[in-house]
Amino acid sequence: MKKLTGWRIELALIGVILLASVCAELLFGDFVLVLILGAASYVARHLLNLWQLQNLLTRGEKTSAFFLPGVWSVPFEQASSLHSQLREQKQKNSVTIDHFHNMLAGMPEAVVILGPQDEVVWNNPAAANLLGLTWPPATSLPLREKITHPIFYEYLEKGDFSNALELESPINSTVILSILLIDFTEGKDERLLIATDVTQVYHLDRIRKDFVTNVSHELRTPLTVITGMLEPLAQGMKSDQQSGQQWGRSVELMQQQAQRMKEIIEDLLNLSRLDKNDYPTSDETVEVASMISTIVNDARGIATADRHEFFLEVEEDLGLVGETKTLHSAFSNLIFNAVCHTPPRTKITVRWRRSGDLACFEVQDTGEGIAARHIPRLTERFYRVEAGRSRESGGTGLGLAIVNRVLIRHGCELRVISEPGNGSSFQCLFPTHRVTTIRRQVPSALQQARHSTDADQ
Ligand code: ADP
Repeated sequence: MKKLTGWRIELALIGVILLASVCAELLFGDFVLVLILGAASYVARHLLNLWQLQNLLTRGEKTSAFFLPGVWSVPFEQASSLHSQLREQKQKNSVTIDHFHNMLAGMPEAVVILGPQDEVVWNNPAAANLLGLTWPPATSLPLREKITHPIFYEYLEKGDFSNALELESPINSTVILSILLIDFTEGKDERLLIATDVTQVYHLDRIRKDFVTNVSHELRTPLTVITGMLEPLAQGMKSDQQSGQQWGRSVELMQQQAQRMKEIIEDLLNLSRLDKNDYPTSDETVEVASMISTIVNDARGIATADRHEFFLEVEEDLGLVGETKTLHSAFSNLIFNAVCHTPPRTKITVRWRRSGDLACFEVQDTGEGIAARHIPRLTERFYRVEAGRSRESGGTGLGLAIVNRVLIRHGCELRVISEPGNGSSFQCLFPTHRVTTIRRQVPSALQQARHSTDADQ
């Protein structure tokens, strides 16, 4: 309706100009002059309105007293309503942002928004107390100036933020922080850092770990004495037939149980050592192929009567950067488990090969397999699928917990693929930065082991 009215006004204006020109022609014989004057004022009116529309859209300025409606009424009304909607939205947004900032500012956790070069874009007051940043935030401050721990930058470079990193506060070494990074902008390379004070939890956990370590240490000495005394006692029983018959079996059982306790204590102490650090304490070049051949030869030694069949698929020039000792213990736990928890004549395949830029260590067996409900719990301390049978096979129930800790230290996770009746596969996928190539001149231990196996057969 309004549109029609606007166009009618325009038509009426043009009509008035034409009529005035005709009247001028009749009265003064000057049609053209009045037509030109009329057209010029018509165009000037449109220009004036256009200028006012521009002001309304860009600066939100209202129309002046010179606003002449007509066909311009509708665009002006719509532009004005659009502008007030935008203003309202802006006000709402700024209230939301204020709420958000107040909420972040009141949080006890340090919150820092990091730019692409890990510079501070924004931080809350807690970040000043926990990380030594400033409040109000000093934007563009490189985070490296405040957090200097190399572990933190290793964590940043790795780019795997699924687990939080525990670190001492850069301004107070008695405060332990749990740092979590979140990639929250797609493609903008900005990250959110959240640091929580976990000092209390950390100390409680430390106390728990220290307790286990101390108890294990305390038990080790008396047990060594007991096993040491049992040894000659057992020997004596063998030579003295009468007392041998009476006590022989009991002493043998005591010896076995004492030995088991010693092994559990050793494994608990190993776990305590592994718990102390989240990263390897040394970065050696580990010749995995020869390590596998040594472990497999040892495993052949225990799989005596009903020999398990071993198959090796190993890339000999593929090595790892990490701790030789702990990796040896992880790999041997997996290989020995395949021997101890599977029936005779099981086929065991040990693989060590590249998988893209990564390296995969795998122990696959054709044993009885493990039901899905047990798999997530296998790395828990003392968790066994069948407690009685596993104890009989001589395990401490700590092997996979040790494997898991060693792998975490090397930035890798244990993957278990298994189903009852179809055997099991235990896989460890090592990240690119841990993978290396070994150049060797002389035939490897593995080749020698293979030759000796061929000769045996
Ligand atoms: P253990 O000292 O008993 O070997 P682990 O922590 O090494 O303890 O293993 C936990 C449990 O996982 C074992 O008791 C066993 O039931 C199961 N397990 C480990 N490896 C295998 C395997 N290759 N096949 C079947 N079960 C296995």
